[in-house]
Amino acid sequence: MNICIIGPQASGKGTQATRIAGHYGIFHFSTGDALRAEVKSGSELGRELAAVMNAGKLVSDELIYGIVKKTAGEHPEGILLDGYPRTVHQGEMMKDELKIDAVIEIAIADETCVARISSRYMCSDCGRGYNTVSLPPKNEGVCDDDGAALVQREDDKPKAVLKRLALYHEATAPVIEFYRAAGVPVHKVDGEQSIDEVFAAAKQAIGG
Ligand code: AMP
Repeated sequence: MNICIIGPQASGKGTQATRIAGHYGIFHFSTGDALRAEVKSGSELGRELAAVMNAGKLVSDELIYGIVKKTAGEHPEGILLDGYPRTVHQGEMMKDELKIDAVIEIAIADETCVARISSRYMCSDCGRGYNTVSLPPKNEGVCDDDGAALVQREDDKPKAVLKRLALYHEATAPVIEFYRAAGVPVHKVDGEQSIDEVFAAAKQAIGG
């Protein structure tokens, strides 16, 4: 089974993706995490990616498609795509390669996104995500897994946040219509609920 999860930044999409993938025994693939790992490696490509990502822009469709195609090929058990497709063009590029069985749309208001982002942090070492309100670390300011300092993502800083939200509405929201028109079941879940409630609703929508 291949699932695609779509939602704006801070909609809880990454958290839900981890839980849904675990529940159905499929591979959780976050394109954002894959790109951040490349940036962290310090490679030439990573430096180029950082410039694009820190400005709140999207990396090229061709580059990201290559990464997704390779990863999907390595996971015949199924994949949960978190952060892909981000544009209708990306969806079209992939449609003959990977059949999507269901789309989960996590819907939240822009104001909620902005409020949540101000409390969002990640581990400076392993990249694990936290939220000081809804998903706090056991000890303030440090990662539960490795004790490294928690930091705010460059692209979570106010200017980049507004740009990414506008980009979501303009480029990514149409992907939902693209799948609906292609006959793929699209399940809209209210992302303003608690993490457990969103997970329960997503599970029920997919079929238990
Ligand atoms: P995310 O963690 O999903 O919010 O992704 C962080 C950043 O990575 C985005 O703001 C983009 O710059 C880049 N990115 C992630 N997925 C894609 C994609 N499918 N297409 C283009 N850029 C992407």
